Amino acid sequence: MTMNPTQIPAPSLNPDKVNSAVPQEREYEIIVVGSGPGASFAACMLAEAGHEVLLLEEGLFWPFGNPSNYSREELQYKYRNGGITVAFGRPRVQYVEGLCLGGGSEVNSGLYHRLPDDIRADWFVRCGLDDMSTQVMNAHAEAVEKEISVSLFPGEPKPPAKRLKEAAESIGWKAVETPRWHSYAPGDLKGQRQTMTRTCLPRSVAAGALLVTDAKVVFLIRKGRIWEITTECGRLKGNRRTLTLRARHIFLGAGAVGTPALLRRSRLGRRAGDFLHLHPTIKVIAEFDDPVNSPDLGVPMHQIREFGNNITFGGSISTPHYMTVSMLAYPGGLELIRDKWTHMAAYYAMIVPQGRGKVRVLPGCRDPWVTFSLSRRDLEWLAFALKHLCRLLFYAGARRLYPTVKGLGVLRSVEDTERIPARLPAGGTELMTIHLTSTCAMHQDPRLGVTDPWGKVQGAENLRVVDAGLLCTAPGVNPQGPLLALVRRNIRHWLEQERG
Ligand SMILES: Cc1cc2nc3c(=O)[nH]c(=O)nc-3n(C[C@H](O)[C@H](O)[C@H](O)COP(=O)(O)OP(=O)(O)OC[C@H]3O[C@@H](n4cnc5c(N)ncnc54)[C@H](O)[C@@H]3O)c2cc1C
Repeated sequence: MTMNPTQIPAPSLNPDKVNSAVPQEREYEIIVVGSGPGASFAACMLAEAGHEVLLLEEGLFWPFGNPSNYSREELQYKYRNGGITVAFGRPRVQYVEGLCLGGGSEVNSGLYHRLPDDIRADWFVRCGLDDMSTQVMNAHAEAVEKEISVSLFPGEPKPPAKRLKEAAESIGWKAVETPRWHSYAPGDLKGQRQTMTRTCLPRSVAAGALLVTDAKVVFLIRKGRIWEITTECGRLKGNRRTLTLRARHIFLGAGAVGTPALLRRSRLGRRAGDFLHLHPTIKVIAEFDDPVNSPDLGVPMHQIREFGNNITFGGSISTPHYMTVSMLAYPGGLELIRDKWTHMAAYYAMIVPQGRGKVRVLPGCRDPWVTFSLSRRDLEWLAFALKHLCRLLFYAGARRLYPTVKGLGVLRSVEDTERIPARLPAGGTELMTIHLTSTCAMHQDPRLGVTDPWGKVQGAENLRVVDAGLLCTAPGVNPQGPLLALVRRNIRHWLEQERG
């Protein structure tokens, strides 16, 4: 893996370069929809290869750190529905998505993984994805790591991560520091997260791409050899108008919920939204005797991967506001956070489930309808994961644990973890996820996927997907790394085809 711990931080996108021209109701060569990691990476490759690119993003441009990271305001302005969107099922899974220029890359923790080799092999064999040997995918991953900059933290881990790591090591479990999309100048421990507004988007603009924010694509229709794209502009800024744009090629990067919703609304991609995968995640707030938390805590980088890709433990964002959401079920929880947040930190256990979900659009409803069903085995794995995470946290010195399972109560000792049932209750377990994938999965068989093995929507000309919906299954690791390697593979293939 290419590490650049001493790279010079990249400049952020110049605000004058966003919305520098009103999109014209004319024909463009390429329209990219959305600006999350997949769309921005694709836009950058396409623009740098000399193609005309117009990128349309539903959200607004917020320079990184404004509003400040992990604050209440950030949730309000940079997340869809303030971070509270729900996949219905028993239990429901609260899911979180970015809604701003740069998409999820602007709000995420930047933890980086390559596509695990067993998952790659599964996609290669089961989904018929060509040109996907270990060697090929490693070459794509290396190129992405170089372009966006992936680094280990150059200092000591912060207390919540250090405690988790030391406790794991004391019982012989595998604790690894996960690299991040981050760049550190020499001697600087804060560094800069390598979001899309700091990496691919300024490069796209420099190569001639036009970026337009507050522009939501609502409908696509093919007219002859051209796509017509109905776009609602100015809704967030209160000067709403509808534009009809035209393009020869469309690259859809509206995210794992946004893209299938747009396809379904436009009656394209027969199975769009049918194969939603996600990583169900359960949280635990841990209370310690000593201070572990501080305003500059940031993201804990260590993950416990003792159970392979199927179950992962780690530390979560632990600002008082974020921890409050996990303490709502506990009487006096809010006061406890107010008085003792410096002694508290949030942790999570995440699994790869058997369960699947769907994205649907309902007539007259603005937001898509998302469902997800967990299997009995998923609830057993979550119980197993929660019990082992709680035990580990007691070894790490926690005094009290507050899992997000109603009725379980506060856990005060390792013996108390025996109260965790063998299967978590479908009612009362609060789950969340930040990893949604596979709603436009690539597959050689149109009955089993939405896009072909290169990301082209089955049955539609010049329409491709470049977001997390492409992943054939949930990857068992943070998905942005696998996504960008796939996007690089697919866009290179498209560029080669165009060159003839
Ligand atoms: C809080 C949080 C933490 C995370 N941490 C990590 C991590 O540490 N490591 C990791 O690898 N992954 C992490 N993820 C997941 C990662 O961010 C996502 O997998 C990734 O962002 C998905 O990229 P994408 O290309 O699918 O687009 P998305 O990031 O989903 O962005 C889609 C964009 O499209 C826009 N859009 C939607 N609909 C339309 C439309 N109709 N017209 C125009 N624009 C539209 C949206 O506003 C959004 O900006 C995290 C996610 C969150 C929310």
